[in-house]
Amino acid sequence: MQRQALAWRRAGVRIAFVPTMGYLHSGHASLMRRARRIVRPSGKLVVSIYVNPAQFGPQEDLSRYPRDLPGDKALCGRMGVDCLFVPGTDEIYPADQSGSHSAYVMETRVSSSMEGASRPTHFRGVATIVAKLFNLVLPEVAVFGAKDFQQAAVIRKVTADLNYPVRIVVAPTVREPDGLALSSRNNYLSVEERSQALVLSQALRFVARRVSLCKSGVPASRLKADVLRMVAAQPRARVDYVEFFDPATLQPLQRVSRGTQMALAVFVGKTRLIDNALL
Ligand code: AMP
Repeated sequence: MQRQALAWRRAGVRIAFVPTMGYLHSGHASLMRRARRIVRPSGKLVVSIYVNPAQFGPQEDLSRYPRDLPGDKALCGRMGVDCLFVPGTDEIYPADQSGSHSAYVMETRVSSSMEGASRPTHFRGVATIVAKLFNLVLPEVAVFGAKDFQQAAVIRKVTADLNYPVRIVVAPTVREPDGLALSSRNNYLSVEERSQALVLSQALRFVARRVSLCKSGVPASRLKADVLRMVAAQPRARVDYVEFFDPATLQPLQRVSRGTQMALAVFVGKTRLIDNALL
């Protein structure tokens, strides 16, 4: 991969990159479309598929994470992807004579709340794999989804702080017609859970409406209580966190108004779903 990327760069070919964990859906496709628009038909569009063990906690769904390489290849073909990079864990984390991998990338500010608080080693895994993939794919631009808002913030910070010469683009969340954000993990949901999972996007819409009606803002504590009640009305759903924060710094806000970012994580059955919106 790196040899190919170097050859492209030396020839002045632009490289756009979309990293994924596979089981691709229209959310991923929208990132590919955005990446292609940026580097034009003459540039190269690289997509990676790697289910990165380092970003899963010990109790999480690494082994049952959905996989469909033939389906993913077909989608990448339809999207005009030039290179589909599917490394194995033996290549990404080779166990050499001295043992296992021991260098990691850690972001220590925007990664501490929300996903970072619920999943302690998650962002260390994300930052490390993204740094490694940037060094392998050598992209000029990389496209990420707003669906994983905090992840995009962590990647922006790592890229800036470590001087990666990569432009980070964040593309909007793609949703089902009923509002559910597309996610590979939606595949885990039973029919009953699928309908209760709508509570995430409903909570975002509910809060956005409340905030738009009140110019002086609404206390975050009141909105959290409302969201907890909405989620509690769904028997299969349980809140992990609901947060209101400044989208630039991720600092929590006590008073919520237009321009505040809201994010939530909810277990629906055993499946943990996340969603967010700029209010
Ligand atoms: P994943 O395969 O879940 O690791 O996601 C790979 C990339 O796709 C990440 O940048 C995600 O934020 C992005 N992504 C996932 N779901 C969506 C969605 N519904 N809309 C837009 N981007 C998404």
